[in-house]
Amino acid sequence: MEKMIIVGTGCSGLTAAIYAARANFAPLVLEGHEPGGQLSTTTLVENFPGFPEGIDGPSLVMNMKSQAERFGARFEYATLTDFEAANGHIKAKLDERWVETETLIIASGASAKWLGLPREKELIGHGLTSCATCDGAFYRNVPVCVIGGGDSACEEANFLTRFASKVYLIHRRDSLRASKIMAERTLANPKIEILWNSIPTEYIADAEGEMRAIKLTNSVTSHEHELEVKCVFVAIGHNPNTKAFRGKLDMDADGYLIQHNGTHTNVPGVFASGDVADRTYRQAITAAGQGCAAALDAERYMSHHG
Ligand code: NAP
Repeated sequence: MEKMIIVGTGCSGLTAAIYAARANFAPLVLEGHEPGGQLSTTTLVENFPGFPEGIDGPSLVMNMKSQAERFGARFEYATLTDFEAANGHIKAKLDERWVETETLIIASGASAKWLGLPREKELIGHGLTSCATCDGAFYRNVPVCVIGGGDSACEEANFLTRFASKVYLIHRRDSLRASKIMAERTLANPKIEILWNSIPTEYIADAEGEMRAIKLTNSVTSHEHELEVKCVFVAIGHNPNTKAFRGKLDMDADGYLIQHNGTHTNVPGVFASGDVADRTYRQAITAAGQGCAAALDAERYMSHHG
């Protein structure tokens, strides 16, 4: 019987792990599909308090993980695939193994959205990616493009200018959604060209199956053209990772978990924290704050239930 299982090792799950481990619960923390969460594919994080010069995302999560381990958190490369809860008992399926736990904190985050164009799956890893930090360095001195107009797209476009000969930012509207500082930085970068009102309609591969170009349609003029790029970086937002909880936990129409009274879900003993339940703020610091709250809520739940 575990006291606490934490699903996810983004900054929400890791903050929950630090608090729970420090309270002597020796939580079992599941790394899941994307160890380190979204921060592990982020470049410089400039807005996490305490780092005046910024810190790179992977270092930030590694620091949090070491901090949790120092107090006794246990990490396992497993994914929660199912869970059952009845009469105050929670059973969690970790890959193929069922484990009983007193509390469950779900901090499984959100994963990158794709455009849904034909050939998308086969081109991933062949000039199509959602992670500039992971793949940017492979595309030196060649033109690339980023799809999206939010903070992620702008951040990725700026990062890619370190390697690529030219970065096209392809946005479906005529103004950026990104925060003012990020938008200004992007507009001022001479290596970035923004293609406004541009809708991607087709990926075009070469004879070897590698990305060669992307077809765009201008939503104002209906003009179509092919843009020659060696890599397409998709940065159009995320979907919450809640597949395993469908029909079991309250969620909204887009699959974000619904919290009742702090981080409690509708199932006693099960808590939700971070991007899996937050469609409003979605920041590293707010996810970390919710991780702390979930660990405290779980601790209080356990003390009320003996
Ligand atoms: P986002 O803010 O939801 O932006 C997604 C962008 O993709 C929007 O510009 C959207 O266009 C576009 N888009 C969505 N679906 C599309 C489709 N099917 N085809 C073409 N374009 C599409 O997502 P995000 O940029 O990942 O940011 C998520 C959150 O994380 C935000 O709160 C952001 O502030 C935060 N974030 C912060 C930082 C930082 O502070 N360093 C870095 C990254 C992210 P529309 O604008 O037309 O809707």
